[in-house]
Amino acid sequence: MQWETVIGLEVHLQLATRSKIFSGSATTFGAEPNTQASAVDLAMPGTLPVLNAQVVRYAVMFGLGIGAHIGRRSVFDRKNYFYPDLPKGYQISQFDLPIDIDGWLELPTGKIVGIERAHLEEDTGKSTHVGGGGRIHDAQYSLVDLNRAGVPLLEIVGKPDLRSGDEARAYVSELRSILVAVGASDGKMEEGSLRVDCNVSVRRPGAPLGTRCEVKNVNSLRSLGRAIDYEARRQIDLIESGEAVSQETRHWNDDTGRTQTLRSKEEATDYRYFPEPDLVEVDPDPAWIEEIRSSLPSLPRERRHRLVDE
Ligand code: ADP
Ligand code: MG
Repeated sequence: MQWETVIGLEVHLQLATRSKIFSGSATTFGAEPNTQASAVDLAMPGTLPVLNAQVVRYAVMFGLGIGAHIGRRSVFDRKNYFYPDLPKGYQISQFDLPIDIDGWLELPTGKIVGIERAHLEEDTGKSTHVGGGGRIHDAQYSLVDLNRAGVPLLEIVGKPDLRSGDEARAYVSELRSILVAVGASDGKMEEGSLRVDCNVSVRRPGAPLGTRCEVKNVNSLRSLGRAIDYEARRQIDLIESGEAVSQETRHWNDDTGRTQTLRSKEEATDYRYFPEPDLVEVDPDPAWIEEIRSSLPSLPRERRHRLVDE
């Protein structure tokens, strides 16, 4: 009997603005640590976030590029957790009311892949654990760089429509081409502008969706394909030997070519989301959305179709 692999990707994309999503700090890549962090990014008492209009414009451009509905009332929430590179103690992120809803893209093969939503959020700072194996547990000390704190991100949640590592790679390439075409991002995976978490499950063709594992730390298109192939094989072997797949987050190790458990579903955090009281809802004017629509460049899909038609 055959197995079918089911994949759904969550892509974090850095938007190409010169300044951050809620402050005027620069977003230039590779600057000296903590030279691009303002009082807002450091969460000093009394500071308030101000939404960068260009961030919204890019999110709308992308949304239109994937045929999504643009949310008339999207809302920012607080996602609460503690980590040294998150000075506020919460990340501002859209939760149940995102800006882009229900889009799709077409792979070069002609297959249509659904996109559930794309929501805006701020990036966190970056921690570097020094000594030991580079993991927090056996480090001698840790360094915190807040240059990345508040950099605008769009999280793009794909539907579980992909069926192989190759298809997943084609999906990310197409997503990147759309983003680059509309100018919303440089899409550079090697600089962390585009990060992918992949959800993988296996099932018998026609059966309901199986239990999924989320694989993190996939840093290139090549690793994406390898991680999916490894993870699908691992799950098939488990099921065929009479065991069950348990829902968990796994870490891809590019050196060993394996995934390993990072945390189980039971350890999932309750982020206590609630609406961010310091920001109003995002309610873009329909006329402004139409103006953006009419200024969109031609998309990769349209260019492909034109070539075929001519
Ligand atoms: P969460 O709230 O845990 O992030 P979601 O339902 O939003 O879960 O799904 C997150 C991602 O997982 C989406 O990209 C979706 O396509 C994918 N996904 C959901 N169920 C499965 C499954 N059974 N197999 C593979 N991918 C899945
Ligand atoms: Mg998610």
